Amino acid sequence: MKLIRTICGTFLMLMILAQTGWTQKKNESKAAADAPKLVVKIVVDQMRHDYIPLYWDKFEEDGFKRLVNRGFSFENNHFNYFPTFTGPGHAAIYTGATPSVNGVVGNAWYDRSIDGSMYVVSDSTVSPVGTESDAGKMSPRNLLSTTVTDELKSASSNSKVITVSSKDRGAVLAAGHLGDAAYWYEGESGKFVSSSWYVSELPEWVQRFNEKGLAKEFANSTWETLLPIEQYTESSADDRSYEGTFENEEAPVFPHDLAANRGNEYGIINSTPFGNTLIAELAKSAVEGEDLGTGDGTDFLGVSFSSTDYVGHKYGPHSVELQDTYLRLDRTIGDLLNYLDKQVGKGNYLVVLTSDHGVVDVPQELINKNLPGGYFDSDKAVDELAEFLKTEFGDEDWIENYTNQQVYLDRDLIDQNGLSKQVVQQKVADFLLQFEGVKSTNTAHNYQYKNYGAGQEAMYQRGFMYDRSGDVYIQLKSGWLDTDYPTGTSHGSPYNYDTHVPLIFYGWNVPQGETSRKTPIPQIAPTIPNMLYIPLSRGSEANLLQFAA
Ligand code: ZN
Ligand code: ZN
Repeated sequence: MKLIRTICGTFLMLMILAQTGWTQKKNESKAAADAPKLVVKIVVDQMRHDYIPLYWDKFEEDGFKRLVNRGFSFENNHFNYFPTFTGPGHAAIYTGATPSVNGVVGNAWYDRSIDGSMYVVSDSTVSPVGTESDAGKMSPRNLLSTTVTDELKSASSNSKVITVSSKDRGAVLAAGHLGDAAYWYEGESGKFVSSSWYVSELPEWVQRFNEKGLAKEFANSTWETLLPIEQYTESSADDRSYEGTFENEEAPVFPHDLAANRGNEYGIINSTPFGNTLIAELAKSAVEGEDLGTGDGTDFLGVSFSSTDYVGHKYGPHSVELQDTYLRLDRTIGDLLNYLDKQVGKGNYLVVLTSDHGVVDVPQELINKNLPGGYFDSDKAVDELAEFLKTEFGDEDWIENYTNQQVYLDRDLIDQNGLSKQVVQQKVADFLLQFEGVKSTNTAHNYQYKNYGAGQEAMYQRGFMYDRSGDVYIQLKSGWLDTDYPTGTSHGSPYNYDTHVPLIFYGWNVPQGETSRKTPIPQIAPTIPNMLYIPLSRGSEANLLQFAA
């Protein structure tokens, strides 16, 4: 019996080896003969789907119009989970999985093991590179599934992966675990930095880029509108009470004098279109510095433009500032594509453009227009909940934390008191229903053990991981935000304004066309490996995008 098993085992082993060898050979030949030289994945932070049609008439031919007119556009593309933030968005785009699988349940979450907040890419075990500060102590350690970039690196030793972003999480989650390098912007110094997870020192091309001082130049300039301001007819008036201002400004209006408002740092350019210009320039330097698109394997460049997010938060979707940021980004992307045409060659590279989430109109603006919206007072709700739990279960601190609209209960305390977590969670969920702005509540118990299948509860379930998520979720009504937005706006909800984002494929082997079929964001990550004949990112459900109407 044992002998037979050994023989069978050996036979199976040989079969597997033979097959892997065959697959690898097939991959090599296929990939070498028929693969793009470079994949460029562009993530525009906080880009709602409606912005392309809204600003269309003011775009030039080489940027968004070129992508839409000559590429394939998925017009009804959505995030399919809560919460819709930058960390989870980049993780879903790159892993093809949702937070319940890739572990990125927020930009930060409450970590019960350290009794404190865990930032999505923070890693105390790595050293900063290009800086002394904690801005460099970042890695993908908290990301629990592989990215398309991980799979590319695993499959082909000839492939290089480089990612750039103003935000650390926009670069790190894109480079994944095996990327050659991720570079992100340190506002304090005006320089791009990395961590020892990727490199031991900044390569010469990054050092040279930093030394040029382009960021500092931008931070000492004045932000004026690209076109004469009266041409911004797609936006509201420039001066509105619910827009944010820079520190020394009296009103949120053009021109914005950056030098007078930057203090001793250079972070201010993130909140202007120049942050995006800087990223595009760094991306071009990366193509040259790393010889991307010239080797035997397919290279990968991840570019995340985040100024759109900072500007969107500060001024809202209908501001002149946001329109100006998109008009300039349109020119910046056009310029980048023209550069790639020259450097890598037309048709030799594949572009995928999408966004990490959308945004809600400024709730005050919604209220003014008699549309549903408002501000939820979470401090009041959590304070009253704490009192309620004391009278209900005893004079203890039952709440450990409140973050991402989730109440984290003291699970140990519940156990020590011989209480059922399910019962306590349900009490909390019922109590929280009374507060203004709350649509519904639900519990970790339900997300752990029920199967919601479809609808909004399923979206929350796809965003839930037992050891990282809270015990009770507060689900706000459409148009509502937490009160910490006295001006500006935010995102994070499962509503269409936060989930509906552009998705365009352009270039190498991409047919021209569009579809209005609903596509979920996690289909992007497996589709790219499928085009490259490499293994699919591991946590994805392996549903592929169809380039057909
Ligand atoms: Zn974002
Ligand atoms: Zn944001």
